Amino acid sequence: MARIVVKFGGTSVATVERIRQAARHVKREVDAGHEVAVVVSAMSGKTNELVGWVNEASKFHDAREYDAVVASGEQVTAGLMAIVLSEMGIQSRSFAGWQVPIHTDDAHGAARITGIDATTLDDRMSNGWVPVITGFQGVSPSGRITTLGRGGSDTSAVAVAAAVKADRCDIYTDVDGVYTTDPRIVPKAQRLSKISFEEMLEMASLGAKVLMIRSVELAMAQKVRLVVRSTFDDPDAPQVGPDGLPGIPGTLVCDEDEILEKQIVSGVTLAKSEAKITLRDVKDKPGVAAAIFGALADQSIVVDMIVQNVSDDGSLTDITFTVPDSEYEKAIKALQGNTSIEYAKIVGSKGGAKISVVGVGMRSHAGVASSMFRALADKGINIQLITTSEIKTSVLIDEQYAELAVRALHTYYGLDKKDA
Ligand code: ADP
Ligand code: ASP
Ligand code: MG
Repeated sequence: MARIVVKFGGTSVATVERIRQAARHVKREVDAGHEVAVVVSAMSGKTNELVGWVNEASKFHDAREYDAVVASGEQVTAGLMAIVLSEMGIQSRSFAGWQVPIHTDDAHGAARITGIDATTLDDRMSNGWVPVITGFQGVSPSGRITTLGRGGSDTSAVAVAAAVKADRCDIYTDVDGVYTTDPRIVPKAQRLSKISFEEMLEMASLGAKVLMIRSVELAMAQKVRLVVRSTFDDPDAPQVGPDGLPGIPGTLVCDEDEILEKQIVSGVTLAKSEAKITLRDVKDKPGVAAAIFGALADQSIVVDMIVQNVSDDGSLTDITFTVPDSEYEKAIKALQGNTSIEYAKIVGSKGGAKISVVGVGMRSHAGVASSMFRALADKGINIQLITTSEIKTSVLIDEQYAELAVRALHTYYGLDKKDA
């Protein structure tokens, strides 16, 4: 007997019919004698619609009311899932974030879970009930509904799994696992049978939206075994692992030690809509970078890649960085409006794409960056910015070459499916 938390994403609960299909996955686990808790997203498209309504009501809305509105999508699917499970003869009850309770801080719209009181869930699970918990939401210290940021149901699921000490957290989605790159962009992408937490963390931060970044951080810290698997698999078919033997289908996200064959490059990611901003001729002295990035942080602008040139004469230099396209004007305004930052001029452009290659094997292999640059050069793609970390190399290129670059790198590193 195992304790399992299962999470269903938007496509898995898009209609009542889909909820019924998802519930059959739950029933299979219950019939096998497992204790199960369910975490649900809103029906696909619902959260976008709710966000749209809030913005239509007012561009300058209160973040507490944004949360009150956008958290409602998950309440609908949690109730429907509990109804469908009950109809199948499984004792089930829905729980909103505040009913669990899932405590968060009060950063409305992007709240962080600070603790979960697992007593109620524990009781229900031990007594053969299947609690269905709204993903994406929690309750603030002052008792208001909060949301965790887009894609946050993954994080809810992992946090619940840690709180109830689950053996596993299964994330059911519209793909049957984590792929070497987004299978919608590269049909030759291959499913990985295992991926380490660290690689998954990099991939999630670099644009592979299959799991929310925070959920991977949490799973890594709390040692939650995460499985990404398909909601469209026949719930009643025999459970077959990626090796073809009886087991759990999908991709296991786990500790690096559990992965015997370490790839130099495990995945290629793509993040579009990156804007590049350069400050020309800033003073090359202590405190300048702190002033520039402090001014941006004050406006809650998240900066990604940063490059500073060495100045020839030790007096003036250029600093270049990237922000999301949507923050471009705001970032420029924040810098122009700050009189303590001196520079000759600001130049920049929107429409960049960040392409990254990720792999734990890079730690022990030299030359990955140079081979990446060669592969892009062979396609005539110009590199605008480069950043690296221990297990990834990222480049910024013109958005119009993004898919071409991803496909070229995927082939170059031998990741293409053999029979495709
Ligand atoms: P859900 O609604 O179930 O949370 P998401 O849309 O958030 O699902 O995430 C699943 C999607 O992530 C897939 O449909 C796929 O297009 C995308 N994706 C991006 N990169 C990858 C990857 N490396 N492996 C698998 N899926 C990926
Ligand atoms: N429904 C929320 C969203 O669309 C949370 C989630 O699906 O994970 O962002
Ligand atoms: Mg998601």
